Amino acid sequence: MRDLFQEQLEALRACSLDRHLRELTSAQGPEIEIDGRRLINFSSNDYLGLANDPRLRKAAIAAITEFGVGAGASRLISGTQSPHVRLEQALAKWKGTEAALCFSSGYATALGTIPALVTKDDVIVLDKLCHASLIDGAKLSGAILRVFPHNHLGKLQSHLEWARRQHLSKRILILTESVFSMDGDRAPLRELVELKKRFGALLMLDEAHAVGVIGPNGRGLAAAENLNEDVDVQMGTLSKALGASGGYICGSHDLIEGLINCARSFIYSTAPPPAIAAAASAAIDFLSSSEGEARRLLLWKKIELLRRLLPANAMNTKSSAATSAIFRWIVGDEQAALNLASALQSEGFLVPAIRYPTVAKGSARLRITVTASHDEDRIRALCDAIRKMTKHE
Ligand SMILES: *Cc1c(COP(=O)(O)O)cnc(C)c1O
Repeated sequence: MRDLFQEQLEALRACSLDRHLRELTSAQGPEIEIDGRRLINFSSNDYLGLANDPRLRKAAIAAITEFGVGAGASRLISGTQSPHVRLEQALAKWKGTEAALCFSSGYATALGTIPALVTKDDVIVLDKLCHASLIDGAKLSGAILRVFPHNHLGKLQSHLEWARRQHLSKRILILTESVFSMDGDRAPLRELVELKKRFGALLMLDEAHAVGVIGPNGRGLAAAENLNEDVDVQMGTLSKALGASGGYICGSHDLIEGLINCARSFIYSTAPPPAIAAAASAAIDFLSSSEGEARRLLLWKKIELLRRLLPANAMNTKSSAATSAIFRWIVGDEQAALNLASALQSEGFLVPAIRYPTVAKGSARLRITVTASHDEDRIRALCDAIRKMTKHE
């Protein structure tokens, strides 16, 4: 048993692809503590600084006092408690859809939803850079998979033409993200909607890195582009900008009723802790308020500042306008990315190196995420440190 992974681990180490956990001895925030050392944190997806917000803490504590800690059963047995119902109502209202359903995580959301929507002989067409949860859900569904190069509408169209020819009466599901998690760029949603309509396909959009960041009251890219009605399945997570935990689907009554009956990760898993649902509701209440909208605009000020100050060679973005709170500095070589991350860490910054299989081999990068809670001096300090390093590159 001792040798169970020995060969694999050695192989990973040889390519600088081995991974290790780091223990935080503090709460999530713009400054965290690791190994007794304070670090300025440019690694989290807590874009609005809600993970440790007093409003969310208070909501969670109140729910624990009233409902306890564990939900005790799956949602369909006796695990549906008032905080879950309230969260789903709040989600549907906030997103402007008929209904909503929450899951234990974003990952579980994709894993349950995709196989409920399509099956063997149906076709899934997905973007090459889709998150692992979408890929795993797609594989689990047993549907025929076709991958199009990142944001490549021409290739997507030819897959759709093929799918319609071959599988006249079958379902076609397009899977993509509004903001890509390791690149920070956006999907061309308007064009995607046009194509999905032309070919009678369904569109599922993962808004994980867009909710809380993009669109009025942080409702995401579909809302920002006024395409709410045209995205059949709106997926998101409660664990990033919303500062809590869990995932959700927003859509029609029919869709939600279907998922309650068919999504296995929903049916066969204990309901999320009621306190987490209550905290997520508090996050949605906050986002819907004018104070929440001000926090989102403050995030955009920080995003703009980082975009302005990051050295051009550390940014690798084609567009001049920032598209999200995610920036990436593509280094290429895995070990070189690790070395840069560790050099930044000695300067007091936590900026993670992202490697295969999260991104393609040879496209290792530093992924920099900025939040509303970073003060300007820290953003400047990070950019100064990076500027020094890019000079030595
Ligand atoms: C983080 C993420 C998920 C998974 O959400 P969790 O709530 O963390 O499980 C799904 N999709 C994308 C694009 C993500 O970045």
